[in-house]
This record gives sequence, structure tokens and C-alpha cells, in this order.
Amino acid sequence: MKALVFHGPRDIRHEDYPDPSLTIANGVLLRVEAASICGSDLHIYHGDRIGLTDYSQPQPHFCVGHEFIGEVVAAGPDVFTVSVGDRVLAAGGTGCGVCDACRSRISRCPKANAFGLSTALQGGQAELVQVPNADTTLRRIPEGISTEQALLLTDALATAHFGIGRADVAPGDTVAVVGLGPIGLLGIELAYARGAAQVIAIDPVEGRRAHAAHLGAVAVAAGPEARAIVRDLTQGRMVDRVFEASGARSAVESVPGLLRHGGTASLIGLPQGDTALPLRQLLYRNVTLRAGVAPVTEMWAELFPLVVHGRVKGEGLFSHRYPLADGAEGYRVFDAREDGVLKVLFQVG
Ligand SMILES: [Zn+2]
Ligand SMILES: [Zn+2]
Repeated sequence: MKALVFHGPRDIRHEDYPDPSLTIANGVLLRVEAASICGSDLHIYHGDRIGLTDYSQPQPHFCVGHEFIGEVVAAGPDVFTVSVGDRVLAAGGTGCGVCDACRSRISRCPKANAFGLSTALQGGQAELVQVPNADTTLRRIPEGISTEQALLLTDALATAHFGIGRADVAPGDTVAVVGLGPIGLLGIELAYARGAAQVIAIDPVEGRRAHAAHLGAVAVAAGPEARAIVRDLTQGRMVDRVFEASGARSAVESVPGLLRHGGTASLIGLPQGDTALPLRQLLYRNVTLRAGVAPVTEMWAELFPLVVHGRVKGEGLFSHRYPLADGAEGYRVFDAREDGVLKVLFQVG
């Protein structure tokens, strides 16, 4: 098969790779239809360290990508909820499939991992991929969900839903969204779907603020002036909830200053380096602060109806499309943030 294969920092190649075979009784083989690049894919692209793995050092070559949809072409004997011929979306990662956590809440599996980080769980930016624990990791794509929305459900939309939920957004709230990548922009839609009265969207990039304004948010440029602008917009009260979807140090450190007394902040941006949050300020102002990584499969039951019924659309997030053969260029453009890129889709099958 053809696949996007990791050779080292900034060196992802479209090349021949051995076809996966079905080796797991509760797994399936997927023929991939479409895949996308996630901001978190840039960590390996940059040769960062993730867990015990230092991606600047030589690795056995593996297929990359954890956001993909496709058709089941073979299923093991212990798969019950999907069958050959089904069009499915996958969660961005899965568990070992046999421990207690995998039988209840697979996201708590101590061996849970994302696809496309090593040869142990090959990625889906490839023509074929084996998906273990298929009953938990996959869902049939219902009528009314587009290819783009299905790709967003593999990770970004689930992460945004998790983050907005943990911000305690309630009807009438004023919500600040910090960081307007795809997850932040989806957070705006989800905050309104939960009844937010006003969403204030903060980012340094003009094009992203324009997208947020199109979704009905009040867009504010990130920077030293942002807090004063938010104070004016809220008549001095500051916001009830903050959803932080950037992870950049300046974004994370802006969060306490945006929150009203007793407010809630939910942080899901992958931290880029250490941050210093002012515990004294947080404590005396009785704020609630949550941070976490979404259990993707647990978000789907609430999200599928929201998407099917048009309450959340996620339109216009895939700014760039390439055939898989142009994968290296897709990564380069995404990494360089060229041409207003928001999210990259690879057409595979
Ligand atoms: Zn992702
Ligand atoms: Zn497990």
C-alpha cells in the first residue's frame, strides 16, 4: 500500500509500506477514505519528545495519522458492532482491549495510545490500517454526517465538546474562547449550542478571528490589550467561563485574568513548555480550573445528534485538501501556517 511514513523530523514521505494484515481478534482492517492532520501531529513532525519517545532520534519507520475514516474490509471474529462494508470513523486512539478499563472506560486504559505514533499502533494516513478494539474504537457514520464532520468527530469535535462541557457552560453565560484553531472554533459553536449568551473569541491571527466572528463571536486580538477589551465587553464583570484551546504559554497565562469571581476555566490546549499560573489569584477568586484530554469515544453519544440535526456544523475548517501522494506538502504547509491554513484533509480512497 501507499502511506505517509515518518522518517524523522520534517521528513514524512508518501511511499510504499507493507500492507497490514488482520492479526487481532477484536480488530478490523479499514480501507481509508480520508484522513486529516491535527495540531498534535506537529509534535512528532518537529521531533519533540512524547512520553518516553524522542522523535528527533531514529525510529523504526511507521505510518502517521490518528484522524481517519474508512470502510471495513475485514473483521476479526470478536467484532460485533461493525461489519465488512460499513463506512466508519475511528477515535484518534485506543486501549489494549483486554484490561478492566478497556471493558468499561477504554480511555482509562493504562496502555491507551494514539494511532500513528509508532509501529505498535500504525497511523491512518495510509491506504489501509488495522484498528484494534473495533467495537469501542469505531462507529458507523450515520446519514447526515459529512466526510468533513466525520473526520472532525475522530478528535477535534470530541475534544472541543469535552472542553466546553468541563467549562460548565450554561444558558446565559458569557464564554471566552482562547485560541481559534479548529478546536477553538468548534468550541464557539458548542458554547452557543449550550445556550451561551455571548462568546468572546481571542487569537492573534486575523483570519481566525474573522472565522470566529462569522460564527457569531465577538473577536478580540490576543495581546496585552485583550483583558481591558474583555472588561469593557462585560461591563467590568469579566467572563463566566473560559475555554482555552491553544496551549501556548501566553494563552494559558491569560486565562485567570479573564475569569470572573467564581468562574470556570477548562484547558485542553497541549501545553507548549511550562506555564506559571497564579495560584493565589485563582484561590482568592474561587475559580474552578479543569484540564484534560478528551475520552473521544465517550463524547460521541452526545455529539452525533448535535451534528446530525445541524446544531453544530464545523463548516469551513478544512482549508486545504490534498491527495495522499502530496502528504509531505500538506504537512509542510500546515506546519508553516502558510496561506491561512486551518486544517488539512487528505483524500485517500
Ligand atoms: Zn487529532
Ligand atoms: Zn486496556
